[in-house]
Amino acid sequence: KSGGGSEYDFIFKVVLIGDSSVGKSNLLLRFTRNEFRLDTQSTIGVEFAYKQIIIEGKKIKTQVWDTAGQERFKTVIPQFYRGSEGALAVFDLTKPESFEHINTWIEELHRHTPADIPIVLVGNKSDLVDQRKVSQDQAKDLAQRLKVSYMETSALNASNVEQAFITLVKSIFYKKI
Ligand code: GDP
Ligand code: MG
Repeated sequence: KSGGGSEYDFIFKVVLIGDSSVGKSNLLLRFTRNEFRLDTQSTIGVEFAYKQIIIEGKKIKTQVWDTAGQERFKTVIPQFYRGSEGALAVFDLTKPESFEHINTWIEELHRHTPADIPIVLVGNKSDLVDQRKVSQDQAKDLAQRLKVSYMETSALNASNVEQAFITLVKSIFYKKI
C-alpha cells in the first residue's frame, strides 16, 4: 500500500496452537510487547495482537491469534482458524503429553485451513534445562515427519522467540510472492 509510516505491504494472520500452559500467551506477549508474565491464566488474554516486521524491505503486519484459554475446554471456535496463513504449534519441553498432542492440534488446524499452510513446531521453556523431558532428536523427528521447521524457544528469557515467528512469516511470505 502507499505512503504513510503506519501502512504495510502485507498482513498475515497466524495462530498459536497447542495444549494449555505450554506458553502460547507468553510467546505472544514476548513477541508483540517484549513482556513476560508468571500468571497469564487469570488474565483471560487478548484474542490477538499485532507486530510489524520487515522482510526483504516489505512491511509485514503480523496478526497473531491466541486461543485465550479456550483450549482448556478442548475446543477452539472455527473463527479462530478462519483466514489464518500460518501456525506455531507449541509444546512444552518439560511436558511430554503436550508433545504427544501436537499431531491432534495439527489435524484440527488442517480441518480449517489449506493442507500446505506453513507451520513451525515450537518446543517452549528451553530455559528449564533440568526439567527437560522431550529431546531435540524426538522433536526434530516429528518435525521431519510433518515436514515443518522446528525451533526451541523460551518466552521467559526471550531466546529464539522472534526467530520462530520470523521463520513462520518468511515461509508465508515466500509462498505468496
Ligand atoms: P498458555 O496456556 O499456553 O497460554 O501458557 P501461558 O503463556 O499462560 O504460560 C503458562 C505458564 O508457563 C505460566 O506460568 C508462564 O509464566 C509459564 N511459561 C510460559 N513460557 C515459559 C518459558 O519459556 N519458560 C518458563 N520457565 N515458563 C514459561
Ligand atoms: Mg494462554
